Amino acid sequence: PSLADLTWDKAPCRFCGTGCHVKVGVKNGKIAAIAGHEKAAVNQGLLCVKGYHVGAILYGKDRLTTPLLRKNGELTPVSWDEALDLMADRIMQDPAGFAFYGSGQWTVPEGYAAQKLMKAGLSNNHIDPNARLCMASAVTGYVSTYGVDEPAGTYDDLDACDVVICWGNNPAEMHPILFSRLMDRRSRGETVRLIDIGTRRTRTTEFADDYLEFRPQTDLAIANCIANQLIANGTFSKEYVEKFCNFRGDNEELDLMGKQITFDEYKELVASYTPEAVSKLSGLSVDQLTMLGELFGDPEVKITSLWCMGVNQHTRGTAMNRLLHAIHLLSGHFGTPGNAPTSLTGQPSACGTAREVGTLCHALPGGLLVAKEPDRKHCEKLWNLPDGRINPKPGYHTVLMWEKFCTPTAEGGDIHTMFVQVTNPGQSLPHLQKLFRNKEGLEDKFLVVSDGYPTASTELADLVLPAAMWVEKNGVFGNSERRTQQWFKMVDPPGEAREDVWMTIALARKLYDRGHPGMKDKDGEFLFHAVDDAGQEIPFWDYAHFRDINVDRYLYEEYRPFTHKKHKNVAPYDELAKTQGLRWPVVQTDKGTWRETRFRFAEFDDPFVEKGRGIQFYHSTTGDDRAQIWFCPYEPHPEEPDDEFPFWLCTGRVLEHWHTGTMTMRVPQLANAMPDAYAEIHPDDAAAAGISNGQRCVISTRRGEMEIPVWTNGRGRPPRGSIFVPFFDERQLINVLTLDAHCPISKEPDYKKCAARIRPV
Ligand code: SF4
Repeated sequence: PSLADLTWDKAPCRFCGTGCHVKVGVKNGKIAAIAGHEKAAVNQGLLCVKGYHVGAILYGKDRLTTPLLRKNGELTPVSWDEALDLMADRIMQDPAGFAFYGSGQWTVPEGYAAQKLMKAGLSNNHIDPNARLCMASAVTGYVSTYGVDEPAGTYDDLDACDVVICWGNNPAEMHPILFSRLMDRRSRGETVRLIDIGTRRTRTTEFADDYLEFRPQTDLAIANCIANQLIANGTFSKEYVEKFCNFRGDNEELDLMGKQITFDEYKELVASYTPEAVSKLSGLSVDQLTMLGELFGDPEVKITSLWCMGVNQHTRGTAMNRLLHAIHLLSGHFGTPGNAPTSLTGQPSACGTAREVGTLCHALPGGLLVAKEPDRKHCEKLWNLPDGRINPKPGYHTVLMWEKFCTPTAEGGDIHTMFVQVTNPGQSLPHLQKLFRNKEGLEDKFLVVSDGYPTASTELADLVLPAAMWVEKNGVFGNSERRTQQWFKMVDPPGEAREDVWMTIALARKLYDRGHPGMKDKDGEFLFHAVDDAGQEIPFWDYAHFRDINVDRYLYEEYRPFTHKKHKNVAPYDELAKTQGLRWPVVQTDKGTWRETRFRFAEFDDPFVEKGRGIQFYHSTTGDDRAQIWFCPYEPHPEEPDDEFPFWLCTGRVLEHWHTGTMTMRVPQLANAMPDAYAEIHPDDAAAAGISNGQRCVISTRRGEMEIPVWTNGRGRPPRGSIFVPFFDERQLINVLTLDAHCPISKEPDYKKCAARIRPV
């Protein structure tokens, strides 16, 4: 069709946390064109290769179109009623044994509805998103440093900085449009120095001014070395530290508060991290370490640090996040445009949904906590619940939840029914045999998976629910820079595929019909109660009435007041509908318009900072408006290479595919561009093992083995002694091999490091 024949509407891209806005052209009920949205501040008309093909993800030939129940080993079509009745009956038998596993791809209303069903309805906190596997360490890093989650800076820093440091991060492939924003500056003649600190060469390295290759796990020592030099050289920002910071170290409980230490104690703790000592440990040269120390010691240079999975998926993930904040705070590179420590997210709504609406097992909406009585009371009031409805005990985090589901009941496996929405744990969980694929002695367990396509998860599910995807439903996402973005449904889902938010509400209604007391509020009204203009209840749990109201708008506006307590004020739904997103906290101006915030905690931009304060960390954990500069020591990894398993194994992503590939592998252009996973190995290691380029090899770890073709001198170039394997390919489940060891504070597993060996097939 000609472009003029199409009906155009806007939506955020379905893939990464960059949050590009696309224009979607629809003709005859089908997406016919995709374009970058020229008015979108994030991407200014550009998209990456995944974004340009995002429309095609709806049209794979094997979309799920009807609920399927496993009978005698075969998935057999059943009605929605039968499927939901079965789930509701199981939950009624054992409400505490029900767990909900969601995603940073949940829309805001989907995540909000799911956690409301669990926390406000079932008094059950066993809900966690897959975001636990990707940004939980960023959350604990922000919370323990500033007292509140999410970055202070925004993408605007990339337009203002002099230096960008990528810490174990490959934005050229993982956040390509952000990366192109930097490269655009260079092409306009501006100088932007790019420092790539990593454990293998990537496409980002190709554009870097400095490539600093360190031994896995020693990033902690490098960050401490920078801090040590700032103090030893007297180049830390004395004024900034005295006015705005405290010093902290871990306590025995390893909690978020830790214990206060003095500046002198901090100085002593970092003193052993000299460039000479850290050079031996990390493999960086003394000159490279000195360069980093001098860079942070220069107040005239504007430095933005970016990180993602390399820092977060780390057995010391919280520690490494804290240290990155620490060196920015200590040096005063914080709170002015271009000076920011900023974590990026992999999923489109890891921030907007997973972090903000309370889908983590310890959280409540708006950054509140189930363990804090005032927070519970506040939520009970907003939800009109009887006192004490919200369970004060945090639920099972992701790894524990799956461990409990995959352990026989008699051995303490107390999760019996698991509902998975918008994610693919059968491919993305670590140590897959233990946490997902084991079925022995688990006959009484019941796995429900909602998805758009058959996946490694549906393959082992007892009940499969067909899901509407992306613009087949209304939605709201929140990207990595606190930008909340809304879209309307544009095309119908196929067959009987339905919205996840509807599935959750319909399930809640089945529980209400069965007399579950938690499905009613204090006035006896259904938990998801809405009325029309005449005061009549709208039965939107019934799919025939689902669109009698805009359920997304209704849920989002119900959620919005929760964001006010922690100054995360998100914009009204109707404002979002008019824009390509607004960055919270937003405030209404005298003219009635809504103003977003670019630089948080900084008086010149953040409306919640008191006049005259300059910088104010208004949710400080110490209650004195100060941020915490943490000392966290280097510790060796729990599974370092040895004689038996002499290689480091690292996993990750590629440009063409999004996470487990369930959507992008159905787009012919993307699948053809990158059809199979591979193992990147140094050519000398391959030669030493007797393996030539393209030949299949066997990689094994203490958890299993797999066959995969070798790629030497490919796109990514690991140093000797390292292997890299992407995880997008469901035919080559690399996570059968990965380790489930996790950060003791964030509980985020380390997918980046474990010991492996390699041999020819
Ligand atoms: Fe989509 Fe991310 Fe690519 Fe932007 S950079 S088009 S959000 S995948």
